[in-house]
Amino acid sequence: MEKHDVAIIGGGIAGLTLAKFLAEQGIDFVLLEEHNGFFKKACGEGITRFVGGYDFFDLYESHAGIEKSIDETNIYTKYGVLRLYMPVLMTDKEKIESELARQAIKRGADIRMNEKVAKIEKGENFILHPQNIEAKLLVGADGLFSITRKFLGLKKLRYAVAVEGLSNEIELDVDKIHVEMKKNVVKYGYSWFFPKKNEWNIGIGSLKLNEFKKAFNKFKMKYNVKKWKAGYVPVSKPVKPYGKNVILLGDAASQTIASVGAGNMPSMICARIAADAIKKFAIHDFRDIDTKEYEKALHNITKMLKQEHNLAFLMYFVIRNEYIIHKLLKKFIEQASQYYKKLERGEN
Ligand SMILES: Cc1cc2nc3c(=O)[nH]c(=O)nc-3n(C[C@H](O)[C@H](O)[C@H](O)COP(=O)(O)OP(=O)(O)OC[C@H]3O[C@@H](n4cnc5c(N)ncnc54)[C@H](O)[C@@H]3O)c2cc1C
Repeated sequence: MEKHDVAIIGGGIAGLTLAKFLAEQGIDFVLLEEHNGFFKKACGEGITRFVGGYDFFDLYESHAGIEKSIDETNIYTKYGVLRLYMPVLMTDKEKIESELARQAIKRGADIRMNEKVAKIEKGENFILHPQNIEAKLLVGADGLFSITRKFLGLKKLRYAVAVEGLSNEIELDVDKIHVEMKKNVVKYGYSWFFPKKNEWNIGIGSLKLNEFKKAFNKFKMKYNVKKWKAGYVPVSKPVKPYGKNVILLGDAASQTIASVGAGNMPSMICARIAADAIKKFAIHDFRDIDTKEYEKALHNITKMLKQEHNLAFLMYFVIRNEYIIHKLLKKFIEQASQYYKKLERGEN
């Protein structure tokens, strides 16, 4: 039996970021990813640069795969255009994940592709099948339909359905991000137009499957896209991210900004925090692990994600009136824009 201190299931942005920071600290671990390459799921490929006091570049430590930096997002509602000032990085996410893996491997990480974990068994430690790998601590960075969550017996997460594709036939300002929040486009959701280097990542999503289907049928008639990729975004509040000697990370723990379905930056932040918690467990050779410590360390980011969740709930399920939503968004956008401008001037 192959033995490790830590086993990470899942080589998405969450698992790979964790791998990089664990490798830096010299922790013994193995990461198992079911696919033979990175970035196999749907994503808009946008990354909000500053979240919860973290700067993406401090976590990523590279510029590989960054295609554009966009400061302004135009949000189109039934009642006009709202302009949000917020630095967003448009990326080639396959390159981002490959770069994270490269950095992790350079620091000594053991990343294994084509390794789907089919079963988790608990004896004195965890045993992963069919790999026959034993680990003292298990990290579930295995996405929305996490086998690790299931193993912990936690209830399923709520999710939104979304679809994205690449198009080079969009006639909008290429220096801005464009978002439509209109009920005649999609109810309980929004559509997006993200300018990449040579094309657009466009997509549409909704919290309700029937509304998504209706909206997507119209959307795909309107825009020419070679291949649509569908996926799911967790929209529950961040949930209890641990069990005995197990921690959950990224989509597996619903660590997403639910109001906009953004999980890239929150996953990376939580991975950074998880790495520090795991380092503490390593000091005691993974004896008497108190995984609750990880949840405590997440306190600030979890609080922020919960507020975002409440905002989404308020907008989509309580208010619902498009005019009031427009007014609410306007206020929120003014505050957020001021915050990011101050941040840029180094005043926050
Ligand atoms: C259509 C769409 C658009 C989006 N757009 C954006 C956006 O523009 N910006 C943003 O910030 N967020 C966006 N998101 C959300 C974002 O993509 C996710 O929150 C983020 O990818 C979560 O990363 P993760 O590593 O937790 O999960 P994932 O990216 O799902 O990675 C999990 C990994 O685990 C692997 N895995 C799963 N089970 C097993 C197993 N049993 N054994 C081995 N490996 C396993 C999977 O193959 C996968 O590689 C979008 C989501 C969707 C669906």
